[in-house]
Amino acid sequence: MLTEVRRQLVAAARWLEQELMPVSCVFCGEPDGGSGRYVCDGCAADLVRNAPACRRCALPLAAASDLPCGACQVRPPPFHTVVAPLVYTYPVDVAIRQFKFHRKLWYAPGFAEILVAAADALPASIDAALPVPLHRLRQVRRGFNQAIELAAPVAQARGLPMIRNVVRRRQTPYQSGLPAAHRRRNLKNAFAVRGRIDARHVLIVDDVLTTGATCRQLALLLKQHGVGSVSVLALARAITD
Ligand SMILES: [Zn+2]
Ligand SMILES: [Zn+2]
Repeated sequence: MLTEVRRQLVAAARWLEQELMPVSCVFCGEPDGGSGRYVCDGCAADLVRNAPACRRCALPLAAASDLPCGACQVRPPPFHTVVAPLVYTYPVDVAIRQFKFHRKLWYAPGFAEILVAAADALPASIDAALPVPLHRLRQVRRGFNQAIELAAPVAQARGLPMIRNVVRRRQTPYQSGLPAAHRRRNLKNAFAVRGRIDARHVLIVDDVLTTGATCRQLALLLKQHGVGSVSVLALARAITD
């Protein structure tokens, strides 16, 4: 009896949600037609997929390969696996900037859909998610941390706890447009762990992966705190070189 009541309540809540918040494509606004998807087929086809890509840094490769790219072979990054399903170019670059700097939060479920699907390529051993922390002041000014918005649905889909005790100590200048060496200098000691990290394989989540300098610093810090492996999931890979 109770189960039946609960079932009917859940059905009613779903119906209400559909009525009040109909699902539509986050890129073009087209209604989903009952599919429940936030990215329509047409817009999905317009997104530039980052495949094949290096498994250690998500750099696009000319041909699929089990071997990492040349740069990763010479200097292996501190990551187990890096997945970035899209290339940071039109139209997702515009969408990410609108989301991040102009609070167009309606993009979030569309980005989540893309990330959750891409997360299938990540190792099963991942046992916690870490959204790249923003400095407290920047988060207050922005009103949200885009990495948390992106990590939450992935963590929920995979049943992962979110790590919340890593903080950004210094407000580093915006990284975009800076040469790699400058980025590394800016990031030195930028993050700190408050307390313990109870995870063996952490998934760092961010919106855009550029040189990977931020994730590298975080990975090294996590490893200093006893984390065995670190993987990375980002929505898009920027090609800088
Ligand atoms: Zn669309
Ligand atoms: Zn690589």
